[in-house]
Amino acid sequence: MSTLAERLSRVRERIARAEHACGRPAGSVALLAVSKTKPVSAILEALAAGQHAFGENYVQDALAKQDALAGHPIEWHFIGPIQSNKTKAIAARFDWVHSLDREKIARRLHEQRPGELPPLNVCLQVNLSGETSKAGVAPEAVERLAAAVLGFPRLRLRGLMCIPAPTRDPEEQRRPFRRLRELHEALLANGVSVDTLSMGMSADLEAAVAEGSTLVRVGTDIFGPRG
Ligand SMILES: *Cc1c(COP(=O)(O)O)cnc(C)c1O
Repeated sequence: MSTLAERLSRVRERIARAEHACGRPAGSVALLAVSKTKPVSAILEALAAGQHAFGENYVQDALAKQDALAGHPIEWHFIGPIQSNKTKAIAARFDWVHSLDREKIARRLHEQRPGELPPLNVCLQVNLSGETSKAGVAPEAVERLAAAVLGFPRLRLRGLMCIPAPTRDPEEQRRPFRRLRELHEALLANGVSVDTLSMGMSADLEAAVAEGSTLVRVGTDIFGPRG
């Protein structure tokens, strides 16, 4: 049995090795600790080990944890599917949303983001071919959704996110990440100033870093398997 602090430091080492392996500067990939289904005690352990960015998928669960952890220096990221009736809580209680895939949801988050908070950081979730989930905007619709988000000043467009279908083959793992990077480069070429590629999880973070990920979302390898 290893402690959470040991697992966290192993994940940080993997990221550092992956950065080095492809010649990227140390520290160019941020780590988001995905704490969905895990208790407040686990988040406190990760905090004590120096982790400050946490990702949650379920709004009700997240709100309860946020209440319990009020006063701790935590950056909260919402990474799950977004239902219309949950946008108000997401707009009020999170710093980032990675799973934006519809203009209607973007408009609600913009209208509901409290005026005293800075704009909500958002990534567009893209559905690349072969994904198991139906979530995500189609690649050909990314430009249009990005333009819509740029029209909502209470949102700050940061970049793109994807959740490819799992595969063990490292070359197969890289293909969707490469596609997401190309979409990101296309936005930049059109003058949209994005800086975040949210891609890579426990099983494929090396492939994602090799393709330019700037933020990996890791749950299992930090907190252990989910029940
Ligand atoms: C659960 C989840 C993760 C973490 O996945 P692991 O395989 O446990 O590292 C990352 N991103 C999203 C969107 C998730 O839902």
